[in-house]
Amino acid sequence: MKAKSDIGLVGLAVMGENLVLNMASKGFTVTAYNRTYDKVEKFLNGRAEGKSIRGADSIESLVASLEKPRKIMLMVKAGQPVDDFIEQLIPHLEKGDIIIDGGNTHFPDSNRRTEYLASKGLHYIGTGVSGGEEGALKGPSIMPGGAKEAWPFVKDIFQGISAKVADENGDLTVPCCDWVGDAGAGHFVKMVHNGIEYGDMQLICEAYQLMKTVLGLSADEIHQVFAQWNETELDSYLIEITRDIFAYKDENGEPLVEQILDTAGQKGTGKWTGVVALDLGVPLTLIAESVFARCISAQKEERVEASKVIEGPAIEFAGDKKAFIEDLRQALLAAKMVSYAQGYVLMREAAKEYGWDLNYGGIALMWRGGCIIRSAFLGKIKEAYGNNPELSNLLLDPYFKDTVVSAQPGWRKVVGTAIANGIPVPCLSAALTYFDGYRTARLPANLLQAQRDYFGAHTYERTDKPRGEFFHTNWTGRG
Ligand code: NAP
Repeated sequence: MKAKSDIGLVGLAVMGENLVLNMASKGFTVTAYNRTYDKVEKFLNGRAEGKSIRGADSIESLVASLEKPRKIMLMVKAGQPVDDFIEQLIPHLEKGDIIIDGGNTHFPDSNRRTEYLASKGLHYIGTGVSGGEEGALKGPSIMPGGAKEAWPFVKDIFQGISAKVADENGDLTVPCCDWVGDAGAGHFVKMVHNGIEYGDMQLICEAYQLMKTVLGLSADEIHQVFAQWNETELDSYLIEITRDIFAYKDENGEPLVEQILDTAGQKGTGKWTGVVALDLGVPLTLIAESVFARCISAQKEERVEASKVIEGPAIEFAGDKKAFIEDLRQALLAAKMVSYAQGYVLMREAAKEYGWDLNYGGIALMWRGGCIIRSAFLGKIKEAYGNNPELSNLLLDPYFKDTVVSAQPGWRKVVGTAIANGIPVPCLSAALTYFDGYRTARLPANLLQAQRDYFGAHTYERTDKPRGEFFHTNWTGRG
């Protein structure tokens, strides 16, 4: 083992332990530290045994064990624990040392910490890490932002441990990790990733409900459909695990998924994404609907009561099942494209608001492997931004435009069928409504402006006058 460690890692829960093991497996020497020391000892005598991993029993010994500039990564519970560790570390660090927060931190905290640590002569990196515990061990997607001066010192470690996707020769050499941008940009991009994950999952759930309730397909048949879809443009981790979930039987030989209570949990990153979108005035409708879908799912008792007294239409389907399944695939693909288009618009607006220089194609590449939303489709986003880095909306890229336009007939049939049968499809329909709004030159907001002017004298612009000239009308003729 080297005399000094390349990096220190604080926080030996699932993510931290696996990241340490990943770093050691790539030839780095790591010092592991945890608030509760027992966990360090247990780790050293267990999974870390025989590897280039040393333990520290205090912050002082952790800092003393590191190569300069010191790099210390925090993988602890997001929020106050991160600030507490930063305060404990500061007195022991020297100018130019680097503190990295790899937790699910809300990006405003990373904005604040970058500035705060810079005021102490230290560098802060706030990085999203996606891929769960398996990703942490075998290769996560890593989205670092913060003090750019620190990037060259951690680049080899982060790119070394990240997932890799194929280069032009098909060799797995391209790291799913690159510099994202200043301050909280890394955590912002990770937050958008999580929001997109919420949307993708809800879209798949809506497809499942239509297959089950309208088409009457069994779990085995649904498994087959997802297996086929995974061979198409929908090829992705989430479709793959959904395929496997439908094949999984419980101890009685029944599909386990059907025994699971229909109330979804959430940890808040989807909500953060929706809140920022509202703050920035970005129509991020699909992700917002996916968060609300989890909220309504959580109202189980109330839904059960309501179902007893509020009647909807009877389920009726007289069409061709096979054709409808293909329509459903088209609907899922188109809605997913809208979701990514909305997520990218959000990143673009945030970049303007916070002064970040985001690399949109690079972000698609970071999500291409290692993370929960990894999919073949992200390669197309990379290409779209490669062709036009200034692309204002993914739906204007020729590939995305053509795909969504040709998916339209099936998509409309699916949403129409769902509505006629009383099946909630909040994300499939929100995406279609956004698509129709985005491609409509004249919306009814002229009336909205008239209403605002009527009751609040908010004024309006006219179609026959230059923009920026405002008019007010006395709509009632009264003084
Ligand atoms: P976690 O359960 O979020 O956190 C446990 C770690 O935080 C332990 O090391 C614990 O120390 C420490 N900790 C908790 N409260 C503390 C406090 N008040 N002061 C000091 N230390 C404290 O662990 P995790 O699931 O491995 O996640 C780590 C971070 O990665 C989190 O921000 C999480 O959101 C993020 N993340 C998790 C996943 C995942 O799949 N789990 C995926 C991506 C990102 P003790 O042992 O002393 O209690």
